[in-house]
Amino acid sequence: MIRRLFGLRKRAVAAEQHDATLELLRSDWRCSCCGEWHHGLMDMAAHTPDPWPDEPTYEPNSALRLEGNFLSEDFCVLEGEHFFVRSLLEIPVDGLERPWGFGCWSTLSRTNFEKYVAGFDDGEYEDDGPWFGWLSNRLKIYFDEGEPIGVHVLPHPNRQRPRLIVKDQDHPLAIAQRDGITAEPMLSLLRAYGHGPTVQ
Ligand SMILES: [Zn+2]
Repeated sequence: MIRRLFGLRKRAVAAEQHDATLELLRSDWRCSCCGEWHHGLMDMAAHTPDPWPDEPTYEPNSALRLEGNFLSEDFCVLEGEHFFVRSLLEIPVDGLERPWGFGCWSTLSRTNFEKYVAGFDDGEYEDDGPWFGWLSNRLKIYFDEGEPIGVHVLPHPNRQRPRLIVKDQDHPLAIAQRDGITAEPMLSLLRAYGHGPTVQ
């Protein structure tokens, strides 16, 4: 009986903590690490694909070259052979109105890269995809190590960045994307990158 009551109490505490975590992710919070105020759920962005060898210095999109190395906010070319586009991978968070966004990079074949570039200014593409790509940034907790992840790259109208959907439906990142995650793993992910609310 005592044990059962204790179990209930533990669940109640867990539920309270859950609500508190959710509230933290919704509110304005001062970061214990970077010291900045973050407003609500904090998205993250990778400035370059992980294999990019240099400083993340952007050239204008309009200066795009398909030879050698090129980096702008939306396009990246490595050694004239590997083509990357800045994309968005979203993970829904239970209880929050909008998904968490990871601004990251995916490869594209040269053919699809050229299609993307050609439609970029108008946001209208020759076809709607999905185009195949390799996710080109690691993501702590969900994609720390292991084999590369193939993604569907879905070009998005209205000049929004392409959305990425993990192809292998059994991968933890695919499961997170499909089923959503709760506030706690969301906070763990932010903390893994050094962002987390200051504990009062
Ligand atoms: Zn921070």
